[in-house]
Amino acid sequence: MQIKEFDTVILGGGPAGFAAGMYAARGAVSTAIVDISMLGGQPSNYLELENYPGFSCIGGFELMEKFEEHADKFGIEKFSMQEIESIDLVSSPKVIKTKEFQFNAKTVIIATGAKPMKLGVPGEAEFVGRGVSYCAVCDGAFYKDKVVAVVGGGNSAVEEAMYLTKFASKVYLIHRRNELRADKIVQERASKCEKLEFVWDSVVKEIKGSDLVNTIVLENVKSNEKSELSVNGIFPYIGITPNVEGFSGQVAQDSRGFILTDETMKTSIDGVFAVGDVRVTPLRQVVTAASDGAVGAVYAVKYVEALKEVTV
Ligand code: NAP
Repeated sequence: MQIKEFDTVILGGGPAGFAAGMYAARGAVSTAIVDISMLGGQPSNYLELENYPGFSCIGGFELMEKFEEHADKFGIEKFSMQEIESIDLVSSPKVIKTKEFQFNAKTVIIATGAKPMKLGVPGEAEFVGRGVSYCAVCDGAFYKDKVVAVVGGGNSAVEEAMYLTKFASKVYLIHRRNELRADKIVQERASKCEKLEFVWDSVVKEIKGSDLVNTIVLENVKSNEKSELSVNGIFPYIGITPNVEGFSGQVAQDSRGFILTDETMKTSIDGVFAVGDVRVTPLRQVVTAASDGAVGAVYAVKYVEALKEVTV
């Protein structure tokens, strides 16, 4: 196994990771970004963003390409598609072992983001890729002139439901309350979307089909009445859960697993910082992830400099 030594290793190559990479490398510490998959993170799957400052509308993939190009300018090293074997955040140096490399790091910045939550109902796991999808941008085109359901009431659910109306003949938006959580501007747009029909106060109890999904069982949470809805596809957008596999339990986390930090992004372990969606934060956006990355990296650089002063 090849050993690689860095001042800072950033786990995760999304907006938080790239911003951290820029600030760390620009702060003259040797910096690597290590990711278990392709670089770009969650926004790479967003069709478009209209709330990243400086761009009135930009594709998610395109924006992340710009982040990467910008980080490259400062000379970060990038390791994508790394299969993680172990992560030791407590040791000194901190050690991340992948199938190919052992990364020894003075500081680690966790920027691993979050992933979609599952409904946890019968049929969900069975029909993934055969009617159950967590990515409208990736799979929407398969539902041309078909009927689909989206579950959730947040920005993701409502925006993706509107996106799916470009393909589907009808989109049901199933929400467990009778009021959306999504931003008002998003709600206003959705209310004008003719192909979108809201199913309020309802939860999905089961996903059924043969080869492909053909119905979902709903329960009205007020009346407890059950009904079946014929759909060809279902897109759960019910929130996110942090990507903390491999180091969960080493740092302090909240009850849902999100990492606790102070205002400098420092975690409960010296020299370990957490930035972006993986940490406890009141807002999870590309702009806040990038901002976290900047703050975390500045303090990671200070930590490395202090270590160097001690050893001189
Ligand atoms: P979210 O805001 O947490 O919304 C999750 C939705 O799913 C809520 O409406 C929630 O219902 C519902 N839900 C949760 N668990 C459920 C369950 N087991 N069964 C049925 N429904 C369930 O998540 P999100 O929409 O993925 O957004 C995550 C973050 O990213 C947010 O901060 C959001 O603003 C941000 N985001 C921003 C943009 C943008 O600005 N362009 C786009 C996408 C996401 P309740 O409302 O009843 O809790």
